[in-house]
Amino acid sequence: MGWVGGIIAAELTKAGIQVVGLERGKSRSTEDYFMDHDELRYARRFELMQDLSKETITFRNSESMRALPMRSYGSFLLGDGLGGAGSHWNGQTHRFLPYDFEIYNQTVERYGKGKIPEGMQLQDWGITYDEIEPYYDKFEQVAGISGESEANPMLGKRSHPFPTPPMKKTPILQRFEEASKKLGYHPYMIPSANLSENYKNPDGISRAACQYCGFCERFGCEYGAKADPVVTVIPTAMATGKLEVRTFSNVTEILHDGKKATGVVYINTVTGEEVTQPADVVVLGSFMLNNARLLLNSKLGTPYNRKTGRGTIGRNYAYQVNSGRAVGFYDDEEFSTFMGAGALGMEFDDFNGDNFDHSDLKFLHGAGIRISQNGLRPIENNPAPQGTPTWGKKWKETTLKYANRVLTVATQGASLPWKHHYLDLDPTYKDIYGKPLLRITFDFEDQDRELTKYLADKAGEVMKEMGPSHVEIKDKLDPYNIVPYQSTHNTGGVIMGADPETSAVNSYLQMWEAENVFVVGASAFPHNSGYNPTDTVGALSYRAAEGIQKYLKQGGMLV
Ligand SMILES: Cc1cc2nc3c(=O)[nH]c(=O)nc-3n(C[C@H](O)[C@H](O)[C@H](O)COP(=O)(O)OP(=O)(O)OC[C@H]3O[C@@H](n4cnc5c(N)ncnc54)[C@H](O)[C@@H]3O)c2cc1C
Ligand code: SF4
Repeated sequence: MGWVGGIIAAELTKAGIQVVGLERGKSRSTEDYFMDHDELRYARRFELMQDLSKETITFRNSESMRALPMRSYGSFLLGDGLGGAGSHWNGQTHRFLPYDFEIYNQTVERYGKGKIPEGMQLQDWGITYDEIEPYYDKFEQVAGISGESEANPMLGKRSHPFPTPPMKKTPILQRFEEASKKLGYHPYMIPSANLSENYKNPDGISRAACQYCGFCERFGCEYGAKADPVVTVIPTAMATGKLEVRTFSNVTEILHDGKKATGVVYINTVTGEEVTQPADVVVLGSFMLNNARLLLNSKLGTPYNRKTGRGTIGRNYAYQVNSGRAVGFYDDEEFSTFMGAGALGMEFDDFNGDNFDHSDLKFLHGAGIRISQNGLRPIENNPAPQGTPTWGKKWKETTLKYANRVLTVATQGASLPWKHHYLDLDPTYKDIYGKPLLRITFDFEDQDRELTKYLADKAGEVMKEMGPSHVEIKDKLDPYNIVPYQSTHNTGGVIMGADPETSAVNSYLQMWEAENVFVVGASAFPHNSGYNPTDTVGALSYRAAEGIQKYLKQGGMLV
C-alpha cells in the first residue's frame, strides 16, 4: 500500500466502505528512522526496496535480444512495505501541463499529423487538465505541498494556492534563479512534499516542518516532515475503523469470471499459506509494473500484441530522459551541498511540453531544466572533472577538493510512447511463487537523443551564467542501460483513454474489460512528461476513489 492504496483506502473508509489493504512487505512507522542516516544501509544496500531475489523484472532493449532478470538495483528502485516508494521518495510534486493530457490533438493541431514520427503511439488521456485539476488540488492539500503558486506562468490554472509556502531559497538556488532570469526564463521553486512549515491537513493530520537533513531520497523521514502515506492517508483510513491492513500478503492473482473480479488470491509470505479474499471491487495499486503483471498473470484484459497493435495490457511503456546536464566546477568557491532536502530545488519550464516552437526541431515535448539541493551523500558524492584518474592519490585529492564545489543544472525529459516499447510476461523466468516475471522491452530513440542534446545545451547556457571556473556539458544519450540509476518514473502498461480499443481503463481508472476492477497509478499514463509523476498519481487516485463510490452505488461503466 503506497500512495495509491493509501489514498483509495482513506477516501473509501471515510465514506463508510470496508477496505482490506494487502501489502506484500512489512509495516513501517516514523520511529523506524530515528537517528538512522546510514547511507550504506539505505542508499547503497536499498533497505526499503523490494527483495529482487524473490521477485524482479526482466529487461531487453529490443525484440531481437533475450531479456535477462534485473538481479541488482540500478536504473529504478521498487518500493516495498507499508507506504511503498512513497516512504523513500524525494517529494518533488509537479503537476503535468494541460498539453500533456491532450498531447495528440494539440500536436496535430499545431504541426499537422506529419510531425508525429512513424511508430510513435501518441495518444490523449481521455481527461483534460481542467477535469483533473480538483484532484491535484486535493492531493496537494492532503500532503501539504509547499510551493510558489504564481511563479510558473507555463502551468494550467490552480483552484487554490499551495497549502504551505515554498521551501528556503538557498544561495545555490538564488544563483540559478538569477542566471535563468537573466537569460529570460521563468524559474520557480519546485513544489515540495518536504513541509516548509508545520501543517495540519484537511483530515486533521498534523506534521512537523522539514529540517533540511539531506537524507531524504531513499530514506524515510524521522520527523514525519516528508509527506508519505504512512504519516498522511493511512492513519486517516485507520481512524475510521474500516481499514484492515494485512502486511506480508503478496497478491498473486485476481479471481474473475471473465467479466468481473470476484476477489484476489494472496500468499502469506511468513507462513506460505495461500488465502482467497473475496471482494465487490478490486483496486490494483501495486506500482505500475506489478499492476500490468497481475493483470497478465490473471488473464484479465487483453494483452497488447505489438505486431497487430491490438490489446491494451502492456501498451505504451515509457520512462524518462535524464542524461542531458551541465556540470559546473568552482575552484574558488564552496557551497553547502551536503545540506538539503529531497524536493529542494528550482526549475523552469520554458523548454518543457509544447511551451516552445518545435517546427524546426526533430523531437516533440521537452524537459524541465532544474537545479536540486538534495544533500550530496558522502559515499556517492565523488565529483571530478573529465580526465582525472579514476583511482589513486590524484583521484582522492581531486574528489576531496571538489566535494562541495560542484553544481549541476539537470534536465528531466519526457518519454513518448512507441509501438515497440511494451510490457509482457517473460517466457522463461518466474518469481519465487512460480509466476512469470514481467518483461520490459525498451530503448531510447532518436527523439530522445535530439531532446537530450537540445536541452543539455540550454542547461549549459544557464550553468555558464552561474559563474563556475569550468563547465562540462553532457549531451550524449547512450542506448538505455538498466545498470546506472536514472529515475523511478516508469509509466504505462495499463493506460487510460476514451477508446477501449487503445486504452485499458477509462478516466475513472475503471477497466473497460472488468467494470469492478480499478487499476490506479502511473500505469495509466499514456506517455511520460518532463516532470515527476506522483502529483498526477495522487490526483488519479482521488479520481478513482470517487469513481469507486459511484460504482458501488450505481454499478456499470462510469463513462
Ligand atoms: C528513490 C525514489 C525517489 C522518488 N522521488 C520522487 C519525487 O521526488 N517525485 C515524484 O513525483 N515521484 C518520485 N518517486 C516516484 C514515487 O515514489 C512513485 O511515483 C510513487 O511512490 C508510486 O506510488 P504507488 O502507490 O503507485 O506505488 P508504490 O509506492 O510502489 O506502492 C506499491 C505498493 O504495492 C506493494 N505491492 C506490489 N506488488 C504487490 C503484490 N503483488 N501484493 C501486495 N502488495 C504489492 C508494494 O510493496 C508497495 O508497497 C520516487 C521514487 C523513488 C524510488
Ligand atoms: S530532508 Fe526534510 S523531509 Fe527529507 S528526510 Fe530530512 S527532514 Fe525529512
